[in-house]
Amino acid sequence: MGSEFEPEIDQWLREDGLVITASERAARAVRARYHRARQSEGRKAWAEPNIQDWNSFVRSAWMERSLNGKLILNRTQEQSLWADLALADGRGATLLEEPRYRLADLAQQAHELLCSYAPRLLAATARAGWQNDAGVFSRWLADFEQTCRRSDLVSSARLPIELLDLLKNPSSNLECPPRKPLFIIGFDRLLPVQQEVLDAWGSWREAPLAPAATPPHFHVADDDQAELAACALWSSRRLAATPGARILVIAQNVTAIRGQIERAFLQHAATARAFEFSLGIPLDRVAFSRAAFLLIRWLSSSLTEHELDWLFSTGLAAASPHETRHLQAQMRLLRRRGLEQPDWTLEAFVKSFPARTGEASSLQGGGVEPWIDRMTAARSRLAEFAREPQSPLDWAEWIPELLASVRFAAAVSPASGEFQAEGRWQQALETAASLGYDGLRLDWSGFLSRLARILAKTLFAPESSDAPIQICGPAESAGLTADAVWFLGATEQAWPASGKTHPLLPIEVQRNWRMPHATPQLDWDLAEAMTARLLDSAPEVYFSHARQTEGAEARPSRLVTEVAGAAGPLPADLVSPLAARTAAISVEDFSRVPLPPGRIAGGAALLTAQSQCPFKAFATARLGAQSWEAAQAGLTAKQRGQLLHAVLESVWAGPPDGIRTHAELVDLADLADRESRAAWVAAHVRRVFQKEIRDRLTDRMPTRYLELEQERLISLVTAWLEYESARIAFEVLEIEAECVKDIAGLQLKLRLDRLDRLIDGSVLVIDYKTGDVRTKSWQLPRPDDIQLPLYARFALKEDHQLGGLTFARVRPGDLTFAGHIGAPAGTLFADLKSSSTLLRDPLTVEQLEDWDRYIEQLARDFLAGHAEVNPRDYPKTCERCGLQTLCRVDENRVVLEGEGDEEEGDDG
Ligand code: SF4
Repeated sequence: MGSEFEPEIDQWLREDGLVITASERAARAVRARYHRARQSEGRKAWAEPNIQDWNSFVRSAWMERSLNGKLILNRTQEQSLWADLALADGRGATLLEEPRYRLADLAQQAHELLCSYAPRLLAATARAGWQNDAGVFSRWLADFEQTCRRSDLVSSARLPIELLDLLKNPSSNLECPPRKPLFIIGFDRLLPVQQEVLDAWGSWREAPLAPAATPPHFHVADDDQAELAACALWSSRRLAATPGARILVIAQNVTAIRGQIERAFLQHAATARAFEFSLGIPLDRVAFSRAAFLLIRWLSSSLTEHELDWLFSTGLAAASPHETRHLQAQMRLLRRRGLEQPDWTLEAFVKSFPARTGEASSLQGGGVEPWIDRMTAARSRLAEFAREPQSPLDWAEWIPELLASVRFAAAVSPASGEFQAEGRWQQALETAASLGYDGLRLDWSGFLSRLARILAKTLFAPESSDAPIQICGPAESAGLTADAVWFLGATEQAWPASGKTHPLLPIEVQRNWRMPHATPQLDWDLAEAMTARLLDSAPEVYFSHARQTEGAEARPSRLVTEVAGAAGPLPADLVSPLAARTAAISVEDFSRVPLPPGRIAGGAALLTAQSQCPFKAFATARLGAQSWEAAQAGLTAKQRGQLLHAVLESVWAGPPDGIRTHAELVDLADLADRESRAAWVAAHVRRVFQKEIRDRLTDRMPTRYLELEQERLISLVTAWLEYESARIAFEVLEIEAECVKDIAGLQLKLRLDRLDRLIDGSVLVIDYKTGDVRTKSWQLPRPDDIQLPLYARFALKEDHQLGGLTFARVRPGDLTFAGHIGAPAGTLFADLKSSSTLLRDPLTVEQLEDWDRYIEQLARDFLAGHAEVNPRDYPKTCERCGLQTLCRVDENRVVLEGEGDEEEGDDG
């Protein structure tokens, strides 16, 4: 059976027979096949075929026969009812909203299982012996049934049971349409309740499965990527050979690997629009609905910095591209000024713009005032409306008005995908409105949390474009046919698919009633039925699996081996994805754009970047690219480092408040006790905090937290000064000294933390660090850090003789000098142990000359426009860089890793 319409079903529908499919998706597929068949006959018009999915059939049959006027609960209403019952039960786990709704989900599933497999157990007396969690569920179920009876409600899961009763005992007061014979399609396994309903209905039949036209193929690939690439290549060639062919690709766990599948098909499939997924994605991940939800949430609570960045990037939050640019520019400005925050309330964000003053307002506000006015007005309206709890219907009707008032999505020209997403968002609001069926009233946050849950559970798939390649999961493929099928991931672990038994139903009940996953044999039987159905769904069927998956060896599925034989290697023409036509063409770009010699911002970090990766230096210094560190609730590592630098600068600033020499430091160390020394340091720390901690940080960080940070810093600096007091006599020459140096035509402004004159008259260059730094990072041939080697030669005055270069590692529990010093035992510490790295690795003239040459070459390379994407230690260098989206190194990582392997081989 291929994509040709099966004559038996075609005949049935032409004669106005009724076809029932297992799912909506299958109903759509059968309908499409029927229409294609009529078109191929050259017809212009024909009657709509009578095709219904199972749920619609049950619902309409029940409505035709029922006189009791019960309300059918939708899934959201039912879940809400289960959550209320769980809360009323008063158990600890149900007091918090999230666990309560998770339990409500489980209870809803358990109820559906009972309705489908064991309706007899819906009677409370039949569950008398249920213990523990099952006992609790049994109590909730009794309450659920009672509430439904009392309020004339019926769940969708119970509908087939009620219909069964009506079919067996039809009302004499109601005239129902005659029961047409049924043809059922796409049911891998008829549930007991379905079987009973069909039998009670009367005449029904199922299309028998035909044996496969040709024997199925089974292939093994080296890994997941090779397997996906082979499938994509095969699909593309199959389509090229037979235009108009229809291909079904079946994968386990499509949602989880959707991105990988998409990449493989975009790379290898004939056209980007040749394939589509039949499963949607949750609405809370669709741009339109996610942006709408974030915007309304922001009117009453804060959004994270990351959410704000994303919201502004969609362009949906503003009325024009101009406004969007201003909002994005404001985020950049705040970060540049060090005013980033982990969370932003609307009020705080609005306040971050310059204040308006009369007629100059449009200039000062930078063209964003209309946006501010709209958002502020919407916030006030919401505050007014939210004074009283409202019905879900009122909230749902009010939200579109609120969004219109802030001109949400006004700047985006709606492509059809966005129109569809907007329609689905509207449906989600209507579902939320339906929660008011029992007179419920909710405050704003209660309504928002319910809406968030609905968005997370509602799937959105753009309208099918009837692409020739359809991608779906094994269960979703029921009722679909094609000219060829490729089934991915046929491993022993994945097929038959295994699963867990239900935690709220007794295990023996699940076994007795043959519920899903109750025994391995049930999983096997179901997978066997699905496999047989797949073999019947196309004349050509391929199975495949990867030898290695997630780093582990994978065996072929026994079930597939039984029907298709042992897995053989992939055909040679499907093996080499690199030989395939690729969507992206790689171009080696050797062009360089030189920079005229002169001054450029960036300091020593520029040449460090050139050494780490030439593109990093080019992007940061010449393109102004910058990666952002996410804001934190407390001080960031960078802010802590800046505060430490500022305190040590204050300490060594000399009179009146600071000191300048080792002798003064020793006097200080001679102070009566540690507390007195700490009090002296504390005065410096307090002054620095007053000067450096901006008003906004004080606003959002609790006073006690900042006090603790001060205490931490006092203790750290006191310990460091004690450590330094053991040094051989020295004098601080300069602190935070600045100078501009010319390096092979490149002029850089350099800033040194501290220069000390040592006892032998030489000068020691000191750089404070709060991280775990090592001198290994200065090692040639390609240092990771050239800051101190650069200072060695280029930042000292001509009359200075270099005594050494060192990091001062100032970290709690890790106070030390780490560097290269000419004569450390005679100038730094007299009691150095022979194992000390300071003694073992002194500074040498050759070292300095080598660094000189290397640094000058770096400067020349930078000016010449060397901008290769060439990290010194991939991926470590890149992990600390943050420019991956610009240099796209990760997309080329296969090539980079390949080069690395070759080098290793050569060395060996
Ligand atoms: S992410 Fe890596 S390759 Fe890209 S610029 Fe940074 S260091 Fe270079």
